[in-house]
Amino acid sequence: MIIKTNVLSPISPHEAEFRKNVFITINQTKIISISKESANGDFEDFSDCVCIPGLIDTHVHLSQFYVRGKHSSDLLDWLQKYIFQAELKSKDESYARKIAEDFFSATVKAGTTTAVIYTAPFKQACESAFEIAKDFGVRAIIGKTMMDCNSPDFLRESTEKSLKESIELFEKWNKSTPLLEYVFSPRFAPVCSSKLMKSVGEFARKNNAYIQTHLSENPDEIKLVKKLFPQFDSYTEVYEKHGILGEKTILGHVIHISEKELNIIKNTNSKIAHCPDSNFFLKSGAFPYERIKNTGIEMALASDVAAGTSLSMFNVMKMFNYRQDNYVVSPQEAFYYATLGGAKILGKDNIIGSVEIGKEADLTFLKIPDIAEKNKDTLLSELLYLGTEKKIKAVFVAGKTFPKFNFQKY
Ligand SMILES: [Zn+2]
Repeated sequence: MIIKTNVLSPISPHEAEFRKNVFITINQTKIISISKESANGDFEDFSDCVCIPGLIDTHVHLSQFYVRGKHSSDLLDWLQKYIFQAELKSKDESYARKIAEDFFSATVKAGTTTAVIYTAPFKQACESAFEIAKDFGVRAIIGKTMMDCNSPDFLRESTEKSLKESIELFEKWNKSTPLLEYVFSPRFAPVCSSKLMKSVGEFARKNNAYIQTHLSENPDEIKLVKKLFPQFDSYTEVYEKHGILGEKTILGHVIHISEKELNIIKNTNSKIAHCPDSNFFLKSGAFPYERIKNTGIEMALASDVAAGTSLSMFNVMKMFNYRQDNYVVSPQEAFYYATLGGAKILGKDNIIGSVEIGKEADLTFLKIPDIAEKNKDTLLSELLYLGTEKKIKAVFVAGKTFPKFNFQKY
């Protein structure tokens, strides 16, 4: 397949490349050429669009998709009031399938092609998410949320069951297709026993598996961790000493954090998913972006639905800028952390995250009126501030589009 379009692709947090009127040739799953001339006269004409890499959401809760926008004072209150009850509903298989269908429809329509996902603490809910992701043909890293203590009875599992089911899901689904992988998902330290965290750490290390969890989102949460794990110096040390940290570990939030803790994150090569919309919504605090950037810790952006109100990574990019009081996030930076930066923290920057020859064709095409008159800077600025308003013409994952969606409607 050959597509005529205009390509905007990230290079680094400070650089992007814009190429007008080029022909992208896709063979099977990959981009095999990007050129000024078409190899033959036969091409799809998307010259009214900009083609960007498929957006990457590095932290999102599928089983919370229906309870976005539930007003609350803070994290712990919000979890108790709305979220735990909402996750319970995914115990029912038909509900779990329906919410997964609606979730993946919405991510694709938002131009997101890769998501790192938490599902509810029920094996069937995670199975359903994998089955629907496979049906749709999206790229996803999915895990069953683990919680074996200090949780409501209706969600809490025994340590053994939580581990056994997560390992079974890993064995069945991890790399079951080129697009799907498993991520071990201990929710956060307050609801995980030492035994659970240690076992997850050991298994993941031996099997080169992803881990995701939440770290230092809210002051009350941090106090609770201090009370539950008094023998440790800090919240980060709780994860470090239980073997949870490592290069395939993605830590959500990381807001209230000491230099010593940042050193641990850096030294273990753990990654951070920054969720600015969620941080605004729950009044969790301001992400210390400059400090984190200066350490060289790898990070990327994430929606954190349902504490994030929108699955749109354009919304997240804008919030990334707005959430910083004293640092001006550039359009290039925001674009990078929603694309190539996301691929990088997943160790997938060799296959996705930019529009380049040899990479998988994970592509999002946005209609841009008068694109002929735009330059790189005006276009990047438009995507940062007005990205949520853009019409999406098509989305591809590994060279395949989603014919059942009528993108023109959105
Ligand atoms: Zn989260």
